[in-house]
Amino acid sequence: MAVRKMFWEDPYLDELSTTVETVNEDIITLRETIAYAFAGGQQSDEGTIGGYRILKAQKNGIEIYYSLESGHNLKSGDKVLQKIDWEKRYKIMKLHFAAEIILELVNQNFGNPEKIGANITSEKARIDFIWENNISEMFPVLETKAKQLIEANKPIESAFSSEEDQIRYWKIEGFGRVPCGGTHIKRTGEIGSLRLKRERQGKNKERIEIYLAQ
Ligand SMILES: [Zn+2]
Repeated sequence: MAVRKMFWEDPYLDELSTTVETVNEDIITLRETIAYAFAGGQQSDEGTIGGYRILKAQKNGIEIYYSLESGHNLKSGDKVLQKIDWEKRYKIMKLHFAAEIILELVNQNFGNPEKIGANITSEKARIDFIWENNISEMFPVLETKAKQLIEANKPIESAFSSEEDQIRYWKIEGFGRVPCGGTHIKRTGEIGSLRLKRERQGKNKERIEIYLAQ
């Protein structure tokens, strides 16, 4: 059995009592977890397991392997307390969803340009596109529509499209189902307000950076 991903069932948990499943030197697996492992451009969470710092979280298929600092004495079957850096994770959740909204608005309003990369940290999110012009020409439309969505404080539905394969999606009113296995906020209003910045990445490559304004 792969780890049960409590960060999907309740993305607002910052602490969890769980059980160690396997131990291979400094790499362990858990029965349940709240610590996200890098995927889909979303950064891994920082945190501890049984008081030991998580140095790395690695997703492999539907399992997550946590590398701990050496010197731990955890064994299979041990009950442990897992904690994550909630302040950082919540910023990531807000920026993640801000990026989701911006990407969907780009697609809806600017003809689905090819996306060539994305990354989300607690400081900023970015999305890269193939785009011939200065992408900041999109910003008045994106900012106006994003503000409307945030102010409408729409509920965000997040669920499995395939529980067996652990494929997730999110949906808000007016948008189609968008596949994503990240951790999502519950309502658009949680984003607060956002700020966009353009970076030129090279010929026909444009980046939109997204920051939380507060
Ligand atoms: Zn997402």
